[in-house]
Amino acid sequence: MSNDTHRPRRTSSGRRPFSSNQPHRSGGGFSRSPRSGNTSGSHRTGGHTSGGQSHGRRPAGGRGGGGRKLPTFDPSRFINTNPRTAEKTVYEAKHRFTTFGLNDRFAREIVATGLEVPSPIQDQVIPLILEGRDVVGLAETGTGKTAAFLIPLIDKTLREYDRQTLILAPTRELAAQIEAELRKLTKEFRLYSAVCVGGVGIRGQISNLRRKNHFVIATPGRLLDLLERGHFKPEGVRSVVLDEADRMLDMGFIKDIRKILQNTPKERETLLFSATITKEAENLVKDFLRDPVTISVKKKDVTDSIAQDVVRYSHHDKFETLTKLLADPSFSRTIIFGAMKHSVEKLSEELTAHGIKAESLHGNKSHGQRQRALNAFKSGNARVLVATDVAARGIHVDNVSHVINYDLPNTFEDYVHRIGRTGRGNERGSALTFVPA
Ligand code: AMP
Repeated sequence: MSNDTHRPRRTSSGRRPFSSNQPHRSGGGFSRSPRSGNTSGSHRTGGHTSGGQSHGRRPAGGRGGGGRKLPTFDPSRFINTNPRTAEKTVYEAKHRFTTFGLNDRFAREIVATGLEVPSPIQDQVIPLILEGRDVVGLAETGTGKTAAFLIPLIDKTLREYDRQTLILAPTRELAAQIEAELRKLTKEFRLYSAVCVGGVGIRGQISNLRRKNHFVIATPGRLLDLLERGHFKPEGVRSVVLDEADRMLDMGFIKDIRKILQNTPKERETLLFSATITKEAENLVKDFLRDPVTISVKKKDVTDSIAQDVVRYSHHDKFETLTKLLADPSFSRTIIFGAMKHSVEKLSEELTAHGIKAESLHGNKSHGQRQRALNAFKSGNARVLVATDVAARGIHVDNVSHVINYDLPNTFEDYVHRIGRTGRGNERGSALTFVPA
């Protein structure tokens, strides 16, 4: 296992300030540079927990496939050929990274990593976390939520070198991405972290937990396992972050999360980030957060920022319809969603055989295979990434030109989540959904 003092290479930045085209909300994401966000190559992470990625999906669809429950939402919701008609509003950040009262050197370092203006969630949440408040952040990926909790927690750690933060995330990919962002932000500082996720050997993680870690980033199942075996000692935890709480709950992690929280000191600070607040999440907030402040930058609907249309196909020419589309060079970086692990794998093989370099992302792949696939896609080595919904959760890839729903999503929420991989922040994106003719 490599040492986990983080020394990632600096990526280019050039991020543009946040703007939102959704007038009645406090804001959403921001645009990112073409080359940023490609630093998530973690060397010592991997795997998933018992409730993790390869978790039962409903049967596949879009192929007339046996017994699949067809979506009940209206396919006209897949069409919006005139996006960005909404009035554009620009969120005015009240702070700059240099005015939050952060450690001077750290504030300068944040700016040096390329973050210029705090995103809405950062602008609102950072002061609260610095104050020690518990926070419920209603924010999706792409809003800057990771830095929104990492920045104040890093600052607190620099002030109080003994404090430990536990970050729980639903998937190994998200855990790896959080760690990558932590590395990026702390490369000038001597802070230590450990990633504890399922699906990979536990021994390296056990040995990493033997020494002091300022940050432990984990999926709940594996962390509980480590806690119950006495390798993770929760007594030192001062802050807990539940990232993508809705997804963790969807994956059945509720009992694990509760047990973990019950084992951490009561005086801890607790931060919960979630795209939606379900009843179950609400109960979690009620039981484990103290007088939390809720900040919402949730984009309810991305439909006015992404050009959306349907593609009609007949059963015998579905693949051909896809390859014809992909022949257009404007499909420069395309994510294709399929319903099932094996069909996703097959489709990526077929595309590659057809001369369209594709990679696949699904729960049957090992952590290493998934990281390699993702890196090939991020670096442009593969123009197409074929993925299942669960595997693509929380993945950040910049400048995705198109999302193609080759198989229909199961719910409208899945649809919104899928197409949100493109057209992030100020970028333009297109989403195409295959619908039987
Ligand atoms: P999220 O998944 O919401 O944490 O968003 C992560 C991506 O947004 C990463 O690529 C970050 O480097 C980028 N990011 C975070 N904060 C900002 C900011 N203030 N301005 C521009 N990009 C940011």
